[in-house]
Amino acid sequence: SKTAEADQNKPLRVATNATFVPFEFKDNDQSSEYKGFEMDLIRAIAKEMGRTIEYNNIPFSGIIPIIQQGDMDIAAAGMTMTKDRASKVLFSAPFYESKLVILTPKNSGIQSINDLKGKTIAVQLGTTGADYAEAKGIANKQFDSNAEAIMELQVGGSPAAIIDKPVADYFVSQDGKGKFDVIPIPDTKSEYLAFAMNKKDTELQKQVNAAMAKLKENGEYQKIYEKWFHS
Ligand code: GLN
Repeated sequence: SKTAEADQNKPLRVATNATFVPFEFKDNDQSSEYKGFEMDLIRAIAKEMGRTIEYNNIPFSGIIPIIQQGDMDIAAAGMTMTKDRASKVLFSAPFYESKLVILTPKNSGIQSINDLKGKTIAVQLGTTGADYAEAKGIANKQFDSNAEAIMELQVGGSPAAIIDKPVADYFVSQDGKGKFDVIPIPDTKSEYLAFAMNKKDTELQKQVNAAMAKLKENGEYQKIYEKWFHS
């Protein structure tokens, strides 16, 4: 069995789905670096731990299985801490508070969750947005990435998506400016985003939480936060 000391010299293998702007993304150029709040945060955490990073960009729905198999060390994928997931992976302390919202093109006629009845919305496979649509019986098309779900709205294939608020807000402040609206969903609770690790990696979980606590203390977390969330 492996030990934390044995892992110390190896790169931290980070699983992500780099289409969750501004948490993790790449510019159109596929060779571009991994950008975003969570990518900066995991880089700062790895640096604290004296580890380099090896990234793996995979569909969101494949992330928990790959962590469970032990083929990746940690998920940095805007992952909401849910009861079901907590039975499969270890979560770090949360690094961000989120909530589900409706993203819809302006003039779509959609003003509340009730207006989605009889429509087919776009969601990302394996996400809390997809779970919500299923639980409420809202017909939905499930995409491997957020980029594809948002694209579906842009090409008129779906009148709305259910996604995380910070991602919808960021989109509406950038590419979607003047073209899309963000609509709250009153019956949803706050969600907490965290890193996910293998159930056996309690030592890694400790190190990640200690590094994150240090970054909160020394102001580095705040700096990274302001870089992405305060324009
Ligand atoms: N926070 C949502 C979830 O955990 C969406 C994550 C994502 O799309 N990367 O399901």
